[in-house]
Amino acid sequence: MNKKKKKTADFRYDTGPARVSWAAVGEYVNQNEITDIIKFLFQPAKGRAIKYQGQLKRVSRELEKLANLAQPAGKLSLGGKVKALEEQVAKLLKAKHAVFLTNATAGFEIAYKYAGLQPGDEVIAPAITFIASIAYPLSIGAKVVLADLDPRTINMDPKDVERKITSRTKVIIPVHIGGYPVDMAPIMRLARKHDITVIEDAAHAFGGSYRGKPIGTIGHFGAFSFHEVKNINSLGEGGVLCTNLAFGKDFPQARFVGVDTARPISKWLYDVRALKGKSGYFGAGNHSSTEIQAVCLSSQIKRLKTIITKRRQAAAYLNRRLRGVKGIITPPLDDKHIKGTYHLYLLQVDPDKAGGDIQLFKKKIAARGVVQIPHFAPLYKFRIMRQMGYDTAALAASCPVTEEAFEHRFTHLPLYDFTPEQLKYMADMVIEAVAEMRKGN
Ligand SMILES: *Cc1c(COP(=O)(O)O)cnc(C)c1O
Repeated sequence: MNKKKKKTADFRYDTGPARVSWAAVGEYVNQNEITDIIKFLFQPAKGRAIKYQGQLKRVSRELEKLANLAQPAGKLSLGGKVKALEEQVAKLLKAKHAVFLTNATAGFEIAYKYAGLQPGDEVIAPAITFIASIAYPLSIGAKVVLADLDPRTINMDPKDVERKITSRTKVIIPVHIGGYPVDMAPIMRLARKHDITVIEDAAHAFGGSYRGKPIGTIGHFGAFSFHEVKNINSLGEGGVLCTNLAFGKDFPQARFVGVDTARPISKWLYDVRALKGKSGYFGAGNHSSTEIQAVCLSSQIKRLKTIITKRRQAAAYLNRRLRGVKGIITPPLDDKHIKGTYHLYLLQVDPDKAGGDIQLFKKKIAARGVVQIPHFAPLYKFRIMRQMGYDTAALAASCPVTEEAFEHRFTHLPLYDFTPEQLKYMADMVIEAVAEMRKGN
């Protein structure tokens, strides 16, 4: 590669006119690595290995030619691409600040620290979510209180949140399960009344909205996941944290160990500072993400609208087919106030009318080759809760809707990327399975 061209400087080694090659501080990525990455991302299809190898050789040769015409990227972490992505995301969300991070969990951690969460303080989380929502509170010995669910959406029920608020409640973390927005208005009313920080777990909900506001921008903070199993991803891992609070100006420091290049100390390139949270200073961890992840995410964001539209159409089709089928409860779709992202299709049965419960139903559709992706088991079922000293029986008893929903009522179906025939098959099999149950087979 041509190493004489202008390279991108970062704060450490801005060598100015001396133009020291980037390799002085970090090895370049060359065409061999790119070929290996291509080989990983585009693996040979069954029965196509010979053709594949030939084509790969040609691509590799062409890559080498391209490399000879190119200058290397230089910075691989936290550079212009990350910045551009953050601007793109902030604009899309109409948020004042957005920061690209290793994952959504890191975003929650920053927000929890901002809220000043201490051991013994309380966090209200929905009883059904991924453990990541409460990983930070558990890790520091804060007390997790589980809110029961709205049976229609299996999202956090604001009425139960209200019942569970105490003088020690510091954070509420609503989770937009499956991309269906939580009823945020009552939660924000409670937050204002009790001075509680609201962190939206919008891992499933990038691109959704609630009463005209993008999901993730209604609470004090919102974090999105771009892990490989979400609607769009940044090469397997990634997250964005956003806020409209002035604290967002400190996001770069909150992401990267407090390093502040704007006001360097004497004879050095930067200062390191603590972050000012709601009730004092806190130190930051390292949650930096890479330029290549930003390039990937930025590119996928361009097709997000299309992806959500296809998912919504699939959900609408399933609802048309399944609505009115005795024993089946279809999920709510978009309305005037709600725009979901259709990450998952929430399918519920009414055990009294379906001739059996969801466990039987799951077996029947699995036997017909229909894949389910139920999200998630109630948090109180996991060993970590007992290990951390929780009375899990009491937690379960405090969430009767959750227990009933998980044991007897819900599963999720995938919505994407299906042919019309596959979707039809899925609907047919659901109907057939319930019919069989109702006949008592
Ligand atoms: C995926 C997921 C997370 C975690 O996201 P990461 O980016 O992997 O940290 C959090 N909450 C829910 C509901 C999720 O599905």
